[in-house]
Amino acid sequence: MELSKKVKSITPSQTIEITNTARQLKAEGVDVISLSAGEPDFNTPDEIIDAVYEAAKAGHTKYTASAGLPELRETIVKKMARDNNLTYAPNEIYVGNGAKQVLYNVFLATLDEGDEVIVPAPYWVSYTEQVKMVGGEPVTAVTTEDTHFKLTPEILKAHITEKTKMLVLNTPNNPTGSVYSKDELQALADVLAETDIIIVVDEIYEVLTYGEPQVSIASLNDKIKAQTIIVNGVSKSHAMTGWRVGYACGAPELIAALSALTSQSTTSVAEPAQYGAIAAYEMAPESTEKYRAIFEARRDNAYAKIMELPHVTCVKPEGAFYLFPHMKNCAEACGYDTVDEFVKDVLREKHVAFVPGSGFGTPEYARISYSLDEATFNDAVSRIKEFIEEKS
Ligand code: PLP
Repeated sequence: MELSKKVKSITPSQTIEITNTARQLKAEGVDVISLSAGEPDFNTPDEIIDAVYEAAKAGHTKYTASAGLPELRETIVKKMARDNNLTYAPNEIYVGNGAKQVLYNVFLATLDEGDEVIVPAPYWVSYTEQVKMVGGEPVTAVTTEDTHFKLTPEILKAHITEKTKMLVLNTPNNPTGSVYSKDELQALADVLAETDIIIVVDEIYEVLTYGEPQVSIASLNDKIKAQTIIVNGVSKSHAMTGWRVGYACGAPELIAALSALTSQSTTSVAEPAQYGAIAAYEMAPESTEKYRAIFEARRDNAYAKIMELPHVTCVKPEGAFYLFPHMKNCAEACGYDTVDEFVKDVLREKHVAFVPGSGFGTPEYARISYSLDEATFNDAVSRIKEFIEEKS
């Protein structure tokens, strides 16, 4: 069958591919440890599951308004005021099937053929592919370890052209774990406020910070708020990846466009899942603190363990649940030209799965998730160490 040019230009998500390979090996009885998880390893809190059950029993099992249940949009308005110090009206909130689909719809609603979108690298794999899927042109702005992989005003300015329509920011960041401080956001905002560039900020890891708390760029001033589309959701904050609920906050005309797109594509998010999101945001913000604290302890352990690996260096992550070590020297010391080949053999020979940096626009690195218990994580790092010692 002849597939479209658009679909042929897409690279499938490497993270999901590796996770699937690890899952398959596990199903075949191989003792695989996966350090590729992009989701919390906790179950959704019981009170959320109970609320969904009650909602479904009460008959909330239907289509909903395409922009989301009015009750959920109201709850998100309250959440934004409570947690982010931002005032939005319900018609500035759109609910979609997870932040990933929300992002796709945002790109579809705002980008025309050839519009350039600045994506700082290392980047989450889906930004560039989604931009391409709607005909936009991702422009990679490579950041460096010296700034903890954060975009600087200088790098931003160097990538702005007359075709630039949008910038995608992600804080806390997947894959680097970096978190932009208020001052760093302000420095970018000073450049952006002079332009009409749309700022899409993906805040899906909002609650997982281990130093400075997360600040939303939209909270800096009204001009920047008007330029910004915030994307967030319950996947990582409330261990709800499988429920598929995310949202966008932005200008009413954007939200109306997202709603129109949804009305002709997926109709709405599953109604029971939207009740789950209401329950999640109605829980006291402290309820996410216990998970944050567990991840912080894991971060400390994971960072210390990774730093013990020969030939490996790593910036200490400040958020999310990933390490992003430089592994090129290590791969070379083991006789590999690329980190990709090194990663493949670690999976084949030591049964530890993690994602090479090539999928994030930075092939000298690799992403290691610590969303698993410490003992298993430590076992995985021991296996990687053994591999390096055997090969180098
Ligand atoms: N944004 C980033 C940076 C992510 O890492 C992920 C998931 O891995 C998503 C968005 C997608 O989140 P959701 O489950 O809400 O679609």
